[in-house]
Amino acid sequence: VKGQGKNNFIIFNKSIENKTLERRLLENALRKAIKKQEFYLEYQPKLNISTNEIIGMEALVRWNHPDLGTIPPVKFISLAESTGLIIPLGEWILRESCRQTKEWQEKGYPQLRVSVNVSVRQFEDPYFIEKIKRILHEIGLDPHWLEIELTESVFADLKHTVPILEGIRNLGIHISVDDFGTGYSSLSYIKHLPIDTLKVDQSFIKDVHLNHQSKAIVSAVIHLAETIGLNVIAEGIETLEHVEALSKDGLKFGQGYFYSRPLRCEAFEEFVTNNASL
Ligand code: C2E
Ligand code: CA
Ligand code: CA
Ligand code: CA
Repeated sequence: VKGQGKNNFIIFNKSIENKTLERRLLENALRKAIKKQEFYLEYQPKLNISTNEIIGMEALVRWNHPDLGTIPPVKFISLAESTGLIIPLGEWILRESCRQTKEWQEKGYPQLRVSVNVSVRQFEDPYFIEKIKRILHEIGLDPHWLEIELTESVFADLKHTVPILEGIRNLGIHISVDDFGTGYSSLSYIKHLPIDTLKVDQSFIKDVHLNHQSKAIVSAVIHLAETIGLNVIAEGIETLEHVEALSKDGLKFGQGYFYSRPLRCEAFEEFVTNNASL
């Protein structure tokens, strides 16, 4: 906004218009950022909590804005979703995380599975499976090393969802239900879904050592998963108390600041190297 336009804007400024302008500015910035590739990924290790062995990593996107610095995903993912920009951005995220995983394999690091967050909008894209196939083929990554993390909102329309999930899984890609326990899914239909892993939401982990309800929910999810043959991972493990409470409940896998924050590539390589020599 320049000169006269800016003054006009100030005169007619109302908070709602302000919001709209802010949104539009951010949307334009986001559009440019995708063209200029201002994004990068961090990787947070996932571990076996009884052996402390790394089993994989979650890719998490960050926006490196030239003036504003690093912008976290909570500030732009929902806008990317509502504007449809998540489609090109999500494709870049998938390609980059597969490329990096392949690079680590070729450099001789332990073979690890990469988990990529996929938004409902991407999942509903009719070309989604084709895009994943093309990316894996281009990069030469075995689909076995890719996992996608979907939130429960994807499961609102099962008739539509199940065939897509099956298509993805038939490729050999793993599927994990993110933020499990916070959303819509009822435990009863989980057994009908072609999925591999339940990821217990961090809100339940936060007070698992203090709060009976959280503990009951976490225990129930662990035992349910065991019964129907799914893996369980806990996210947001921050303290030794969390680890101890979860181990007692028979949890096998976890991730969180207690083990490591999400790391840039070089720092992740260092983490993996140190972990391997434990
Ligand atoms: P999420 O998928 O549930 O990711 C977990 C978030 O918790 C991440 O925040 C991670 O950095 C943070 N976290 C990890 N360990 C701990 C811990 O011990 N304690 C606490 N308090 N937090 C922890 P981040 O990276 O800011 O991402 C926030 C959300 O943004 C993600 O939630 C996900 O919904 C979305 N997001 C991030 N990256 C992507 C992406 O590449 N694609 C899409 N579609 N969404 C993404
Ligand atoms: Ca996730
Ligand atoms: Ca989550
Ligand atoms: Ca979340």
